[in-house]
Amino acid sequence: MIIVMSPQASKEELQQVIDRVEAANCKVHLSEGRVRTIIGVIGEKKLMAELPLEAMDGVEKVVEVTESYKLVTREFKQEDTVIDIGGVLIGGENLVVMAGPCAVESREQLLESARIVKAGGAQFLRGGAFKPRTSPYAFQGLEEKGLELLAEAREKTGLKIVTEVMDVQSVAIVADCADILQIGARNMQNFQLLKSVGRINKPVLLKRGMAATLNEWLNAAEYIMNEGNYNVILCERGIRTFEDYTRNTLDLSAVAAIKMISHLPVIVDPSHGTGVWKLVGPMARAAVAAGADGLMIEVHPNPAVALSDGKQSLTPKKFNLLMKDLAAIAHVMGRTLV
Ligand code: PEP
Ligand code: MN
Repeated sequence: MIIVMSPQASKEELQQVIDRVEAANCKVHLSEGRVRTIIGVIGEKKLMAELPLEAMDGVEKVVEVTESYKLVTREFKQEDTVIDIGGVLIGGENLVVMAGPCAVESREQLLESARIVKAGGAQFLRGGAFKPRTSPYAFQGLEEKGLELLAEAREKTGLKIVTEVMDVQSVAIVADCADILQIGARNMQNFQLLKSVGRINKPVLLKRGMAATLNEWLNAAEYIMNEGNYNVILCERGIRTFEDYTRNTLDLSAVAAIKMISHLPVIVDPSHGTGVWKLVGPMARAAVAAGADGLMIEVHPNPAVALSDGKQSLTPKKFNLLMKDLAAIAHVMGRTLV
């Protein structure tokens, strides 16, 4: 249920409504918009139905949200969510680029990658320290050492860090290093992990599960928000279909659809979305045209020797060329590639 307060509602009236809702053992989420405050109420339907909220002073209307997710919706928050990460804004008019290798492989490889993506104009360095690999014999990441290297790269370049957290036990150490915690496609419905990152004070980048519907993806974001962390960025990274020319089928319609349903920023990962470096540029350009708030792109100093995902990684030169295209398309779309 959503309670829309009138634009003239006073602080006292707002507090009285909150007290009433909490007294009925329901949970309150506040969305303070430019014009009005909206109260998201989570609790038992029966209890909520009995609350005489519409009669309370300052209440404009009470809206039943029939979807299973509520806080992610535009009913709860009309304006786009803009997340401020140390001065870099995600959402709104900016177009952000997160780039870097699939995995942190070595100090030299990471610092070189950081230098390249910084020079190309990215604001975030991506790179996995904990890698979810299909085979247990494949390179699993440098783990804590990888996190230290990411922190060093930030120190040296000023780039912000986005890196994956794979389990509840690692949330604290990854949060210590990362500016954004990434939840990978394979963990999109790891509900304990979602709740755990919902309780920390760091933005979360939530990748779409390999076979997740928009409904399931938005519900996963709702898990995080329901714990109090509203700084969620959605990332479309392709889904499994019958098509096997590409690694995944990049669903760009999801960007436009999510933008209609939700206020959360949406970024696109054309690297995992296609698995083919030659398709990364075209799909990155299309993503910006489709309204994405940013891109996550795999870049490696030498993709031919990458320990993971070399086939979908751009060389420094190709990344630079792509960034120029993106700046031009961003401009047409009324956005700034910051
Ligand atoms: C990644 O970005 O490193 C990754 C493993 O992506 P995904 O979870 O989308 O497969
Ligand atoms: Mn990868």
